[in-house]
Amino acid sequence: EKMQMASAREEKILVLVRLRPLSDKEILADEVADWECINDTTILYRNTLREGSTFPSAYTFDRVFRGDCSTKQVYEDEAKEIVLSVVSGINSSIFAYGQTSSGKTYTMTGITEYAVTDIFDYIHRHEERAFVLKFSAMEIYNEAIRDLLTTDNTPLRLLDDPEKGVIVEKVTEETLKDWNHLQELLSVCEAQRRIGETLLNEKSSRSHQIIRLTIESSAREFLGKENSTTLAASVNFIDLAGSERASQSLSTGTRLKEGCHINRSLLTLSTVIRKLSKGRHGHINYRDSKLTRMLQPCLGGNARTAIICTLSPARSHVEQTRNTLLFACCAK
Ligand code: ADP
Ligand code: MG
Repeated sequence: EKMQMASAREEKILVLVRLRPLSDKEILADEVADWECINDTTILYRNTLREGSTFPSAYTFDRVFRGDCSTKQVYEDEAKEIVLSVVSGINSSIFAYGQTSSGKTYTMTGITEYAVTDIFDYIHRHEERAFVLKFSAMEIYNEAIRDLLTTDNTPLRLLDDPEKGVIVEKVTEETLKDWNHLQELLSVCEAQRRIGETLLNEKSSRSHQIIRLTIESSAREFLGKENSTTLAASVNFIDLAGSERASQSLSTGTRLKEGCHINRSLLTLSTVIRKLSKGRHGHINYRDSKLTRMLQPCLGGNARTAIICTLSPARSHVEQTRNTLLFACCAK
Protein backbone atom coordinates (compact mmCIF):
# COMPACT_ATOMS: atom_id res chain seq x y z
CA GLU A 1 0.00 0.00 0.00
CA LYS A 2 2.88 2.33 0.73
CA MET A 3 4.12 1.81 -2.82
CA GLN A 4 0.74 2.84 -4.20
CA MET A 5 0.72 6.00 -2.16
CA ALA A 6 4.18 6.90 -3.35
CA SER A 7 3.28 6.42 -6.99
CA ALA A 8 0.02 8.34 -6.54
CA ARG A 9 2.03 11.27 -5.26
CA GLU A 10 4.47 11.04 -8.14
CA GLU A 11 1.65 11.06 -10.66
CA LYS A 12 0.53 14.48 -9.60
CA ILE A 13 1.49 17.36 -11.85
CA LEU A 14 3.63 19.88 -10.06
CA VAL A 15 2.21 23.36 -10.53
CA LEU A 16 4.62 26.23 -9.95
CA VAL A 17 4.07 29.94 -10.37
CA ARG A 18 6.87 32.38 -11.03
CA LEU A 19 6.33 36.12 -10.79
CA ARG A 20 8.87 38.25 -12.60
CA PRO A 21 9.92 41.72 -11.43
CA LEU A 22 8.77 44.84 -13.26
CA SER A 23 11.16 45.54 -16.12
CA ASP A 24 13.08 48.81 -16.34
CA LYS A 25 10.90 49.77 -19.26
CA GLU A 26 7.76 49.16 -17.20
CA ILE A 27 9.14 51.14 -14.29
CA LEU A 28 9.94 54.04 -16.61
CA ALA A 29 6.36 53.85 -17.88
CA ASP A 30 5.08 54.20 -14.29
CA GLU A 31 3.68 50.66 -14.23
CA VAL A 32 2.46 49.39 -10.88
CA ALA A 33 3.06 45.86 -9.56
CA ASP A 34 -0.21 44.47 -8.21
CA TRP A 35 0.81 40.91 -7.42
CA GLU A 36 2.70 39.72 -4.42
CA CYS A 37 3.80 36.32 -3.16
CA ILE A 38 2.89 36.35 0.53
CA ASN A 39 4.55 33.01 1.30
CA ASP A 40 5.95 29.96 -0.56
CA THR A 41 2.56 28.82 -1.82
CA THR A 42 0.25 31.81 -2.15
CA ILE A 43 0.13 34.71 -4.53
CA LEU A 44 -2.10 37.68 -3.86
CA TYR A 45 -3.69 40.31 -6.07
CA ARG A 46 -3.43 43.65 -4.37
CA ASN A 47 -4.96 46.54 -6.18
CA THR A 48 -6.10 49.23 -3.82
CA LEU A 49 -8.21 50.75 -6.59
CA ARG A 50 -10.18 47.55 -6.83
CA GLU A 51 -10.66 46.79 -3.16
CA GLY A 52 -13.88 44.93 -2.58
CA SER A 53 -14.11 43.63 -6.16
CA THR A 54 -15.58 40.17 -6.59
CA PHE A 55 -12.83 38.14 -8.23
CA PRO A 56 -10.66 35.98 -6.00
CA SER A 57 -7.50 37.67 -4.86
CA ALA A 58 -5.48 34.79 -3.35
CA TYR A 59 -4.26 31.77 -5.33
CA THR A 60 -2.46 28.80 -3.84
CA PHE A 61 -0.14 26.36 -5.65
CA ASP A 62 2.53 23.79 -4.90
CA ARG A 63 5.02 26.60 -4.90
CA VAL A 64 5.19 30.25 -5.90
CA PHE A 65 8.39 32.17 -6.60
CA ARG A 66 8.70 35.89 -5.96
CA GLY A 67 10.14 38.35 -8.44
CA ASP A 68 13.52 38.36 -6.72
CA CYS A 69 13.97 34.55 -6.80
CA SER A 70 16.67 33.33 -9.15
CA THR A 71 16.21 30.68 -11.81
CA LYS A 72 18.82 28.69 -9.88
CA GLN A 73 16.45 28.59 -6.92
CA VAL A 74 13.49 27.55 -9.07
CA TYR A 75 15.66 24.79 -10.49
CA GLU A 76 17.17 23.56 -7.22
CA ASP A 77 13.94 23.63 -5.24
CA GLU A 78 11.53 22.14 -7.74
CA ALA A 79 12.84 21.22 -11.19
CA LYS A 80 16.03 19.34 -10.35
CA GLU A 81 14.39 16.24 -8.91
CA ILE A 82 12.12 15.91 -11.94
CA VAL A 83 15.01 16.43 -14.36
CA LEU A 84 17.22 13.87 -12.65
CA SER A 85 14.52 11.19 -12.69
CA VAL A 86 15.67 10.76 -16.31
CA VAL A 87 18.84 8.95 -15.18
CA SER A 88 16.62 6.32 -13.53
CA GLY A 89 14.76 5.76 -16.79
CA ILE A 90 11.75 7.95 -16.01
CA ASN A 91 10.51 10.35 -18.68
CA SER A 92 9.69 13.89 -17.66
CA SER A 93 8.47 17.22 -18.97
CA ILE A 94 8.78 20.76 -17.72
CA PHE A 95 6.55 23.38 -19.30
CA ALA A 96 6.65 27.14 -19.20
CA TYR A 97 3.19 28.64 -19.68
CA GLY A 98 2.31 32.32 -19.74
CA GLN A 99 1.70 35.42 -21.80
CA THR A 100 4.43 36.86 -24.00
CA SER A 101 7.06 38.73 -21.97
CA SER A 102 6.15 37.01 -18.69
CA GLY A 103 9.48 35.11 -18.50
CA LYS A 104 8.99 31.71 -20.17
CA THR A 105 12.19 31.74 -22.22
CA TYR A 106 14.20 33.29 -19.41
CA THR A 107 13.05 30.51 -17.08
CA MET A 108 13.39 27.56 -19.46
CA THR A 109 16.80 28.55 -20.80
CA GLY A 110 18.22 28.74 -17.29
CA ILE A 111 16.63 25.48 -16.24
CA THR A 112 17.91 23.67 -19.34
CA GLU A 113 21.46 24.87 -18.60
CA TYR A 114 21.35 23.80 -14.94
CA ALA A 115 19.87 20.46 -15.99
CA VAL A 116 22.66 19.73 -18.46
CA THR A 117 25.29 20.64 -15.86
CA ASP A 118 23.71 18.28 -13.34
CA ILE A 119 23.31 15.44 -15.82
CA PHE A 120 26.97 15.72 -16.87
CA ASP A 121 27.91 15.77 -13.21
CA TYR A 122 25.87 12.64 -12.57
CA ILE A 123 27.49 10.91 -15.56
CA HIS A 124 30.99 11.70 -14.26
CA ARG A 125 30.16 10.36 -10.81
CA HIS A 126 28.78 7.07 -12.15
CA GLU A 127 31.62 5.53 -14.10
CA GLU A 128 30.18 2.06 -13.62
CA ARG A 129 27.70 2.88 -16.36
CA ALA A 130 28.26 4.05 -19.92
CA PHE A 131 26.07 7.05 -20.78
CA VAL A 132 25.08 8.78 -23.98
CA LEU A 133 23.35 12.15 -23.71
CA LYS A 134 21.48 13.27 -26.80
CA PHE A 135 20.09 16.68 -27.61
CA SER A 136 17.30 17.49 -30.01
CA ALA A 137 15.22 20.60 -30.52
CA MET A 138 11.94 21.09 -32.27
CA GLU A 139 9.44 23.82 -32.91
CA ILE A 140 5.72 23.42 -33.41
CA TYR A 141 4.39 26.20 -35.57
CA ASN A 142 0.93 26.07 -37.16
CA GLU A 143 0.67 22.42 -36.09
CA ALA A 144 3.79 21.53 -38.10
CA ILE A 145 6.87 20.16 -36.33
CA ARG A 146 10.24 21.49 -37.48
CA ASP A 147 13.73 20.47 -36.59
CA LEU A 148 15.57 23.40 -35.02
CA LEU A 149 18.98 21.86 -35.67
CA THR A 150 18.73 21.93 -39.47
CA THR A 151 17.86 24.59 -42.01
CA ASP A 152 15.62 22.08 -43.77
CA ASN A 153 12.07 23.24 -43.25
CA THR A 154 10.34 19.96 -44.12
CA PRO A 155 7.84 19.18 -41.36
CA LEU A 156 8.72 16.16 -39.26
CA ARG A 157 6.24 13.32 -38.93
CA LEU A 158 5.13 11.61 -35.76
CA LEU A 159 5.14 7.83 -35.88
CA ASP A 160 3.72 5.26 -33.50
CA ASP A 161 6.54 3.01 -32.38
CA PRO A 162 5.51 -0.26 -30.72
CA GLU A 163 8.29 0.04 -28.14
CA LYS A 164 8.93 3.72 -27.62
CA GLY A 165 5.41 4.98 -28.16
CA VAL A 166 5.32 8.11 -30.32
CA ILE A 167 8.56 9.10 -32.03
CA VAL A 168 9.54 12.07 -34.17
CA GLU A 169 10.75 10.67 -37.48
CA LYS A 170 14.18 11.83 -38.71
CA VAL A 171 14.71 14.42 -36.00
CA THR A 172 18.37 15.42 -35.58
CA GLU A 173 19.90 14.03 -32.41
CA GLU A 174 23.27 15.46 -31.44
CA THR A 175 25.38 13.63 -28.90
CA LEU A 176 26.07 16.31 -26.34
CA LYS A 177 29.78 16.61 -25.65
CA ASP A 178 30.08 19.37 -23.09
CA TRP A 179 28.80 22.73 -21.92
CA ASN A 180 30.21 24.66 -24.90
CA HIS A 181 28.53 22.22 -27.25
CA LEU A 182 25.22 22.93 -25.50
CA GLN A 183 25.71 26.69 -25.98
CA GLU A 184 26.45 26.14 -29.68
CA LEU A 185 23.32 24.07 -30.15
CA LEU A 186 21.16 26.55 -28.24
CA SER A 187 22.31 29.38 -30.50
CA VAL A 188 21.55 27.31 -33.59
CA CYS A 189 18.02 26.82 -32.21
CA GLU A 190 17.65 30.49 -31.45
CA ALA A 191 18.58 31.41 -35.02
CA GLN A 192 16.15 28.87 -36.42
CA ARG A 193 13.27 29.77 -34.23
CA ARG A 194 10.53 31.66 -35.93
CA ILE A 195 10.03 35.03 -34.38
CA GLY A 196 6.89 37.07 -34.95
CA GLU A 197 5.96 40.58 -34.09
CA THR A 198 2.93 41.61 -32.08
CA LEU A 199 1.72 44.73 -30.43
CA LEU A 200 2.50 43.14 -27.08
CA ASN A 201 6.18 42.56 -27.59
CA GLU A 202 8.67 43.27 -30.39
CA LYS A 203 9.82 39.67 -30.38
CA SER A 204 6.83 37.57 -29.57
CA SER A 205 7.19 33.86 -30.08
CA ARG A 206 4.30 32.24 -31.82
CA SER A 207 5.60 28.72 -31.73
CA HIS A 208 6.14 26.09 -29.11
CA GLN A 209 9.76 25.05 -28.61
CA ILE A 210 10.71 21.65 -27.27
CA ILE A 211 14.22 20.81 -26.20
CA ARG A 212 14.64 17.14 -25.52
CA LEU A 213 17.52 15.48 -23.71
CA THR A 214 17.62 11.73 -24.06
CA ILE A 215 19.91 9.76 -21.81
CA GLU A 216 20.83 6.17 -22.54
CA SER A 217 22.93 4.08 -20.22
CA SER A 218 24.11 0.54 -19.68
CA ALA A 219 26.26 -1.13 -17.03
CA ARG A 220 29.88 -1.26 -18.23
CA GLU A 221 30.45 -4.80 -16.96
CA PHE A 222 27.76 -6.10 -19.34
CA LEU A 223 28.70 -3.91 -22.34
CA GLY A 224 28.56 -5.90 -25.55
CA LYS A 225 27.30 -8.98 -23.74
CA GLU A 226 23.98 -10.62 -24.33
CA ASN A 227 22.54 -9.73 -20.94
CA SER A 228 23.35 -6.05 -21.44
CA THR A 229 20.28 -3.86 -21.16
CA THR A 230 19.97 -0.21 -21.98
CA LEU A 231 18.08 2.24 -19.82
CA ALA A 232 16.69 5.16 -21.81
CA ALA A 233 14.53 8.12 -20.95
CA SER A 234 13.92 11.69 -22.03
CA VAL A 235 13.40 14.97 -20.32
CA ASN A 236 11.59 17.69 -22.28
CA PHE A 237 11.82 21.43 -21.78
CA ILE A 238 8.83 23.08 -23.38
CA ASP A 239 8.75 26.81 -23.95
CA LEU A 240 5.14 27.31 -24.98
CA ALA A 241 3.87 29.98 -27.34
CA GLY A 242 2.43 33.05 -25.66
CA SER A 243 -0.88 32.24 -24.02
CA GLU A 244 -2.49 35.57 -24.90
CA ARG A 245 -5.43 35.36 -27.23
CA ALA A 246 -4.86 36.16 -30.88
CA SER A 247 -7.65 38.72 -30.83
CA GLN A 248 -5.88 40.77 -28.20
CA SER A 249 -2.93 41.51 -30.41
CA LEU A 250 -5.34 42.66 -33.16
CA SER A 251 -4.12 39.88 -35.39
CA THR A 252 -5.38 39.40 -38.91
CA GLY A 253 -4.71 37.05 -41.83
CA THR A 254 -1.93 34.56 -41.22
CA ARG A 255 -1.45 35.88 -37.73
CA LEU A 256 -5.03 34.98 -36.90
CA LYS A 257 -4.51 31.49 -38.30
CA GLU A 258 -1.36 31.17 -36.20
CA GLY A 259 -3.35 32.31 -33.21
CA CYS A 260 -5.97 29.61 -33.78
CA HIS A 261 -3.30 26.91 -34.00
CA ILE A 262 -1.52 28.22 -30.93
CA ASN A 263 -4.80 28.16 -29.11
CA ARG A 264 -5.66 24.69 -30.36
CA SER A 265 -2.38 23.26 -29.05
CA LEU A 266 -2.68 25.15 -25.79
CA LEU A 267 -6.33 24.20 -25.46
CA THR A 268 -5.58 20.52 -26.00
CA LEU A 269 -2.68 20.78 -23.61
CA SER A 270 -4.91 22.27 -20.92
CA THR A 271 -7.52 19.55 -21.42
CA VAL A 272 -4.85 16.85 -21.24
CA ILE A 273 -3.22 18.43 -18.19
CA ARG A 274 -6.59 18.83 -16.46
CA LYS A 275 -7.38 15.15 -17.00
CA LEU A 276 -3.91 14.06 -15.91
CA SER A 277 -4.19 16.15 -12.77
CA LYS A 278 -7.22 14.05 -11.81
CA GLY A 279 -5.20 10.83 -12.23
CA ARG A 280 -3.69 9.21 -15.30
CA HIS A 281 -6.61 6.95 -16.09
CA GLY A 282 -9.32 6.83 -18.73
CA HIS A 283 -9.23 8.31 -22.20
CA ILE A 284 -6.97 11.27 -22.69
CA ASN A 285 -7.11 13.17 -25.99
CA TYR A 286 -3.38 13.28 -26.71
CA ARG A 287 -4.02 12.92 -30.44
CA ASP A 288 -5.89 16.21 -30.74
CA SER A 289 -2.70 18.25 -31.17
CA LYS A 290 0.88 17.73 -32.32
CA LEU A 291 2.27 18.94 -29.03
CA THR A 292 0.35 16.53 -26.82
CA ARG A 293 0.77 13.61 -29.20
CA MET A 294 4.50 14.14 -29.40
CA LEU A 295 4.79 14.40 -25.62
CA GLN A 296 2.46 11.51 -24.83
CA PRO A 297 5.24 9.13 -23.66
CA CYS A 298 6.53 11.90 -21.40
CA LEU A 299 3.16 12.87 -19.96
CA GLY A 300 1.25 9.67 -19.31
CA GLY A 301 2.22 6.54 -17.45
CA ASN A 302 4.74 7.12 -14.69
CA ALA A 303 6.22 10.23 -16.29
CA ARG A 304 6.94 13.27 -14.13
CA THR A 305 5.49 16.63 -15.11
CA ALA A 306 5.91 20.19 -13.87
CA ILE A 307 4.32 23.36 -15.20
CA ILE A 308 5.88 26.69 -14.46
CA CYS A 309 3.34 29.44 -14.96
CA THR A 310 5.11 32.73 -15.52
CA LEU A 311 3.46 36.01 -14.58
CA SER A 312 4.02 39.69 -15.14
CA PRO A 313 3.22 41.73 -12.04
CA ALA A 314 2.13 44.76 -14.08
CA ARG A 315 -1.32 46.24 -13.54
CA SER A 316 -1.86 46.54 -17.28
CA HIS A 317 -1.44 42.76 -17.66
CA VAL A 318 -3.96 41.75 -15.03
CA GLU A 319 -6.37 40.02 -17.44
CA GLN A 320 -3.65 37.79 -18.88
CA THR A 321 -2.20 37.14 -15.46
CA ARG A 322 -5.57 35.94 -14.22
CA ASN A 323 -6.02 33.74 -17.30
CA THR A 324 -2.64 32.14 -16.56
CA LEU A 325 -3.61 31.57 -12.93
CA LEU A 326 -6.90 29.99 -14.01
CA PHE A 327 -4.95 27.60 -16.24
CA ALA A 328 -2.63 26.87 -13.31
CA CYS A 329 -5.60 26.20 -11.01
CA CYS A 330 -7.01 23.68 -13.53
CA ALA A 331 -3.69 21.81 -13.54
CA LYS A 332 -3.54 21.41 -9.75
P1 ADP B 1 8.60 35.21 -22.75
O1 ADP B 1 9.51 34.13 -23.22
O2 ADP B 1 7.52 34.72 -21.82
O3 ADP B 1 8.04 36.04 -23.85
P2 ADP B 1 11.05 36.35 -21.72
O4 ADP B 1 11.60 35.17 -21.03
O5 ADP B 1 11.62 36.70 -23.03
O6 ADP B 1 9.45 36.24 -21.84
O7 ADP B 1 11.15 37.58 -20.70
C1 ADP B 1 10.84 38.93 -21.08
C2 ADP B 1 11.89 39.86 -20.49
O8 ADP B 1 11.85 39.84 -19.06
C3 ADP B 1 13.31 39.45 -20.85
O9 ADP B 1 14.06 40.62 -21.07
C4 ADP B 1 13.81 38.71 -19.63
O10 ADP B 1 15.21 38.82 -19.49
C5 ADP B 1 13.08 39.41 -18.50
N1 ADP B 1 12.75 38.49 -17.38
C6 ADP B 1 11.86 37.49 -17.43
N2 ADP B 1 11.74 36.85 -16.26
C7 ADP B 1 12.60 37.48 -15.41
C8 ADP B 1 12.95 37.29 -14.04
N3 ADP B 1 12.38 36.32 -13.30
N4 ADP B 1 13.89 38.11 -13.51
C9 ADP B 1 14.44 39.09 -14.25
N5 ADP B 1 14.15 39.31 -15.55
C10 ADP B 1 13.25 38.53 -16.13
MG1 MG C 1 9.94 33.58 -25.18
